[in-house]
Order: sequence, then structure tokens, then C-alpha cells
Amino acid sequence: MKRCEEQDNFITIIRNGSQEPFKGPEEWFTRDVIVENLFPENNLFPYSGSLVKFQPGARTAWHTHPIGQRLIITEGVGWVQQWGEPIEEVREGDVVWFPAGVKHWHGATPTSSMSHIALSGVYESQAAEWMEKVSDEQYNKKNKKQALTLKQENMVTISAFTAIGYLPKLRIALNNGLDARLTINEIKEILIQLYAYTGFPRSLNGLIAFIEVIEERKSKGIDDELGEEAKALPTDKSSIELGTEIQTKLVGSPVSGKLYEFAPAIDKFLKGHLFGDIFGRGVLDYLSREMVTIAALASMDGVDSQLMSHYSMGLNAGLTEDQLMGIISVLELEIGHEKIQNAYQLLNITLKDKNLKQKENKK
Ligand code: MN
Repeated sequence: MKRCEEQDNFITIIRNGSQEPFKGPEEWFTRDVIVENLFPENNLFPYSGSLVKFQPGARTAWHTHPIGQRLIITEGVGWVQQWGEPIEEVREGDVVWFPAGVKHWHGATPTSSMSHIALSGVYESQAAEWMEKVSDEQYNKKNKKQALTLKQENMVTISAFTAIGYLPKLRIALNNGLDARLTINEIKEILIQLYAYTGFPRSLNGLIAFIEVIEERKSKGIDDELGEEAKALPTDKSSIELGTEIQTKLVGSPVSGKLYEFAPAIDKFLKGHLFGDIFGRGVLDYLSREMVTIAALASMDGVDSQLMSHYSMGLNAGLTEDQLMGIISVLELEIGHEKIQNAYQLLNITLKDKNLKQKENKK
């Protein structure tokens, strides 16, 4: 860190770019943070200034300041939290004051970068006392706990491990799902629906694992609720008619196009079988079914356009933006930050598009 010399009787200009930015040290930060020192403290003004840029998901460790700190948010959306208090969202232009000795952290949200100018009081050459890292569990608390019920959280986890085909974690997720009072038939329905998105092998393996989990719990004396049974399809319309109605409702308009002209059979299977035979079975409502599909697709590689379609269909089925973000937060905790980055970015694009369109419609 280069320190510039300031003199008592002359003004000093620190030229833009003269201070080399550096990567935030790993013991003080999680993920990518770039720090640019702006000015050092001096005798009459005991505050140092720095510009700190956090990439999505990046944050400081827990820490305190000996005589306090002021943040001016210069870009993006971030989170700040005082120990024992809820996470607060901060945006460009907001100013935050952390009193001396108050344990806290600051950083970007999982989906947006954030930059701030920090004015940190320096006492005996110290601007901060650093503590433990902000764990993924602590960091994800805002999205996850606020937006999803415990049942929904478990539906997401079950879908993800079914899609990935990682059976040890799937068994844990199935157990947790039953503990959260999802019924046997609700979970069975998730595993059945997923064959349409992840293929028969993943679905069948999931169902076999589920049988084992139920039997194991029964042998321990746990009596899980069976729940509502799937219902018969309506007799007054065909699967294709029912499925076309459901698909049109969820997509927001009738579905057609080059793909379906090229392969009419797949159009028939999608409408009649997936949206008719499967979605028409009841047990899970459309919102839950979209949540299951999104969780599975977000956990898989190479299905960007399908995932984006289902983000929109989820919104049409009544999922809120926070719930969509909540799905991603649960997945981040369960299958890892790296694997879920792409799904995050696609969700951001979908929500931006949606908000732009809403603004245009208002005009
Ligand atoms: Mn701080």
C-alpha cells in the first residue's frame, strides 16, 4: 500500500489512478473484492478513505471499527448487517454509519455487484478489527427464509438432487421433506413430474430412493402422512385440450412455432402428456410444479432457454420475484455458488426484461 505524503501548509492532490487497486485479502473478504485506497488518515482528520468493489456474492468478514465507519454506496445493490439484526438492503446513494465497536459486515447481494466509498476512523493505526467470515448460511438468510416456506425449501432441494442424480443428498432431502410435513404423495408427485424434465432414469432412481427412505422411517416408528391422491383427468376434454389450456395459461399465450412445426409429435407430447396428463393430476398446484421445474433446470447444465421460459411461467403461476430468488438461494447453499451462477444471471435477465416491459406498458 503506497502512502502519499501530505504537508501541513499545502494542498495535496492524489491523482486518480495513482493508487494501485488490489484484491481484498482472503482472510477479510469472501469472493472477489477490489480495494482502491483513496486517502490516508492524518492527525487532524483521522479517517482513511477507500473505494471497495464487491462482485455478486462477495462480502467482508464480520468486523468492528475502533471509532466507527461511514459508507457511501456508489453503485449497485448491497447488503449490510449488524450482529443479531436482520440484513438491510442498500442502494446507490445510500449512506451508512457503523458506530465504534458494533460488529457488522457489508457486501454485494448474490445477484448484484455493489461499490462503496468507506470512510474509516483510524485509531492507533487500526481501522478495523477482523473476525470470522460471514458463512453462506448467514449470508443467504435474507432471501431464503423470507421468501420460501420450509415445505417449499425442501421441494427445491428434492428437485435439485433428483435432477443432478446425487442419491446420498437426495435421501437426506427426502427425509427433511417428510420432516417438514410434505406428504408422501406430494413428494411422489415431484419425482413423477421430474421425469419430463430430467428423464426416466433420474426420476426412477429418485422414486426408488424414496421407497427406501419411507421404509426406513417406518421401521423407526415414524408414521408419515400419505396425503391427497392424484385425481383422474376430466372426462369432458382430452389430454391435449386440457394440456393446451394449462400450457397457454402458464406461458401467457398459445405456444407454437418452427420447432413444433418441424416436430409436431413433441408439441403433442408437451401439451397432451406433460401439461395435460401430468400437470392435470392435482396434488401439487401449478405454482409448486413450476417451482419444482425451475429448481431442477437451474441445477442442470445446458438448458438456459428452458430455464428462462420457466422463470416466466413461474411468475405467471404466481411465484413472486423474491420466491424465485429464494429458490436460487436454497440451491446456492445446497449445490454451491459456482454451479448456480448461471441460473442467477438468467434470473436477473428475466426480471429486468419483465420490469422493463411493465414500465413500457404503463406509458
Ligand atoms: Mn465496516
